[in-house]
Amino acid sequence: MTTLALALTIVNPATGALITEVPADDASSVAAKAALARAAQPAWLQVPLSERKACIERFRALVLRDLESLARTMTQETGKAIGQSRNELNGVVGRIDFFLGAAADATRTQTVFNEGGMQEQIEQVPLGVVANISAWNYPWFVGGNVFVPALLTGNAVLYKPSEFATLTGLEIARLLHEAGIPKDVFIPLIGAGEVGAALLAQRIDGLFFTGSYATGAKISQAMGPRLIKLQLELGGKDPTYVRADANVANAAESLADGAMYNAGQSCCSVERIYVHESIYDAFVSHFVDTVKTFKIGDPMLDTTYFGAITRAPQLDVLDGQVEDAKAKGATLLLGGHQLPGPGNWYAPTVFSNVNHSMELMREESFGPIIGIQKVSDDDEAVNLMNDSRYGLTAGVYTPDESMAYAILSRVNAGSVYWNCCDRVSPRLPWSGYGDSGVGLTLSSYGIQTFCRPKAWHLRSV
Ligand code: NAD
Repeated sequence: MTTLALALTIVNPATGALITEVPADDASSVAAKAALARAAQPAWLQVPLSERKACIERFRALVLRDLESLARTMTQETGKAIGQSRNELNGVVGRIDFFLGAAADATRTQTVFNEGGMQEQIEQVPLGVVANISAWNYPWFVGGNVFVPALLTGNAVLYKPSEFATLTGLEIARLLHEAGIPKDVFIPLIGAGEVGAALLAQRIDGLFFTGSYATGAKISQAMGPRLIKLQLELGGKDPTYVRADANVANAAESLADGAMYNAGQSCCSVERIYVHESIYDAFVSHFVDTVKTFKIGDPMLDTTYFGAITRAPQLDVLDGQVEDAKAKGATLLLGGHQLPGPGNWYAPTVFSNVNHSMELMREESFGPIIGIQKVSDDDEAVNLMNDSRYGLTAGVYTPDESMAYAILSRVNAGSVYWNCCDRVSPRLPWSGYGDSGVGLTLSSYGIQTFCRPKAWHLRSV
């Protein structure tokens, strides 16, 4: 293996303190690792699915064995509240269970025609060597959505964790290897954007990216002529509509959590709320009261709800949205400013009287900040929900099931929620409309996406 000369500095976003430095990749080590994965993949494909599943079952057990220290590592390097780190790890175990249960059916060769000596079959053949460039906000979730099904289906994986979740990425690699996944079948690549860019230049058979639209668009441009499978899971500006008939307290409490969980740094955070005018004031007041009960502080404490903002530059994005909203007449009800360091901290922020001229209602905030807009009827709400370049998730709160169906079927979003929000299920496909990306993960489709369906035409005579 190439000796690595570069180092990546890992800083705790809650304190600004140096955690450690780790050796980083460069273009030549990335190329060497890609060659190792290429050489190792054919043998991994020959390993029976039952044995590949056994490796992932052992990995699952190791995640549970080390859960507390893995949660602490994730909290230390991302600033995520420790309880939410534990939730993520427990959630990953549930997703692994889904993949283990569904892999055989999703990849079984299907006979789709058999008449007169002619048989037609569809075989699911792994792509080969896949690259996974990942985000930091849920490093176990978004990484696991790719590497678990990719490995189960017989692919080798070149995995680049975000530079803001590097230690977690290295822990993932350590546990996969301890579980029996060969070292050259799952290879971590360490570094920031330039290491991701170097990975794009390698001979790979699929690229699975999770991150911002800005990076996704660059990757899409770079990969265009390569003609390999490209999946981009990008940002969102996820709306929810609270109908006049909704239970105000339930909706406000649920949506306060949906907007503020993980300090708003979720791709499916609630980012826009539309409330019917007849319940608007009551909803806003209950929402603000609920947010005030969420404790900000040391992310290592069990009682903390709001941890730090992982990336320092996001503080300026949030300030920019606050200033823009204030200048355009929004009413600031809570927060609206950075909190003193050390570390990256932002006060939970709530605006009322917002509209779509404001950045806050148009561009991804990715922080603990929300605008609540008044609407006069369902049509106005649907039009506003669809007035976005993004389309990851959308929801409605109402006791009226038929109205919920009617409204949600008109909304352009990959996932829709009735009386719930900020929810991901391994049993359902995860995808987006518009600038939220292309391709999908999770569900049985999210297993098959790591394969190419090969068509067999078989005449027996
Ligand atoms: P980012 O785009 O800044 O970085 C994502 C990854 O891309 C990192 O590993 C980074 O090192 C790498 N990268 C940067 N420049 C690159 C380049 N030129 N070539 C190749 N790789 C490069 O995003 P982020 O800040 O890590 O994540 C936050 C974003 O991710 C938000 O927009 C969020 O909504 C989105 N996200 C989406 C989903 C989803 O499922 N749709 C899930 C989680 C996060």
